[in-house]
Amino acid sequence: MNDHEKGWHIVIVEDEPSLASIIQDYLTQAGMTSEILNEGRHAVERILAVDPDLVVLDVMLPGKDGLTICREVRAVSDVPIILETARVEELDRLLGLELGADDYVCKPFSPRELVARVKAILRRQERLLRQSQAEAQDDDTAAGYLRIDEERWAATYMGKDLSLTRREFQLLALLFKRPGRVFSRAQLVELAFPDDSDVFDRVIDTHVKNIRTKLRKISDEADIIRSVYGVGYSYEEPDLAS
Ligand code: CA
Repeated sequence: MNDHEKGWHIVIVEDEPSLASIIQDYLTQAGMTSEILNEGRHAVERILAVDPDLVVLDVMLPGKDGLTICREVRAVSDVPIILETARVEELDRLLGLELGADDYVCKPFSPRELVARVKAILRRQERLLRQSQAEAQDDDTAAGYLRIDEERWAATYMGKDLSLTRREFQLLALLFKRPGRVFSRAQLVELAFPDDSDVFDRVIDTHVKNIRTKLRKISDEADIIRSVYGVGYSYEEPDLAS
């Protein structure tokens, strides 16, 4: 456990008491404090008042549903949100709604996996904060491992050129700009290749495979594109510091 985790406070919005308390136990074991809201009615007000480091939010809630809560919080706050959904099939629909959630877990999920996701998001935030501070000080070495140069259409990893094709570059640049955000294949086609009408969902898998191969030539640790089962992909900077 490092010092940062001790200071993290999480709000859990979950109406199943047993699940809520299991999540709380795991967060406590990981050194974080948390509080449970067992219905949705006053969740937005409470979240904004507490200003936690992260929110774990169930979709199906009495009082006010999780999607509405997510939208209302997101309208005024950047607090990271992990949405719990009941079905994997629901994920695609949720992604299409552009709710602004940072990650998704499907019930039944392992509390250990949830805590790992929580830590990943919070560490990424701290890293981005450090990076922006370092960049403000013009300290090049503290910046990320992946660098995207949109003017030159060039991507480097740990200082080495990835030699991406145009489409591989467009795809990686899109993922890179929204770290941790999960994109469906259809969204990737639409957003990464807006001018190409001949790109189909399955082509995304091929491009991702090729990008991963090029990354692995530079580093075995370069697992920066996460596959989200049944949904699509997200960009995750490797946590090489831990
Ligand atoms: Ca529920």
